[in-house]
Amino acid sequence: MKDTHRHKGLRNQLVKIIKSKGIKDEKVLDAISKIPRHLFMDSGFIDFAYQDNAFPIAADQTISQPYTVAFQTELLQLEPKDKVLEIGTGSGYQTAVLIDLKAEVYSIERQKELYEKTRKFLPRLGYVAKKLNFGDGYKGWPEYAPFDKIIVTAGAPFVPKPLLSQLKIGGRLVIPVGDDVQIMTLFIRKGEKEFEKHELGDFRFVPMLKESQK
Ligand code: SAH
Repeated sequence: MKDTHRHKGLRNQLVKIIKSKGIKDEKVLDAISKIPRHLFMDSGFIDFAYQDNAFPIAADQTISQPYTVAFQTELLQLEPKDKVLEIGTGSGYQTAVLIDLKAEVYSIERQKELYEKTRKFLPRLGYVAKKLNFGDGYKGWPEYAPFDKIIVTAGAPFVPKPLLSQLKIGGRLVIPVGDDVQIMTLFIRKGEKEFEKHELGDFRFVPMLKESQK
């Protein structure tokens, strides 16, 4: 597990690209400049780790595009100690960004292979989540609700009700909604039954799958 000056230099270039695309939050940019994304990817793709693209990981899934990770994280407006639910642990890269921003992260992954791999890998890099779970993100995580922030990193065909109900009042849910193309959607919980909704542009994610789907 090597992180060299060359990798660091490539990360600085990547930060410049993400900045030029509109990301302003210095803490988010700082996390991207620090986290060795190449170590979250299968070895064959290491040369591509610092291009601003999504790439295949195990179990037919992808590590999200760095710009997308930064965009979603910026929308969360994280405060230190925020209790954050993440749906779609995947490679753990987004998880590491959240932990770097001092969030207490509860993350769920439905692919056993990825769950097992990332559970072992993240602590080796020094990123310790509060809890990782192998399970179905459509249900949220009622045992640990409510959450200050919720982030979904797979394309959701609809907004799962449990995620809205597990959000604290004042909390924020960032979720890409749609089938082939997803609209990045931010919900801010204003009251028990009141949610403000913002739509923030088109993105492409691998689909959020139900338990019964492959
Ligand atoms: N944020 C991660 C993964 C992005 S890919 C990264 O950047 O590496 C989306 C992830 O969501 C995949 O790992 C996929 O297996 C997972 N996923 C899909 N449907 C899910 C569900 N219902 N519950 C939990 N995770 C799910």
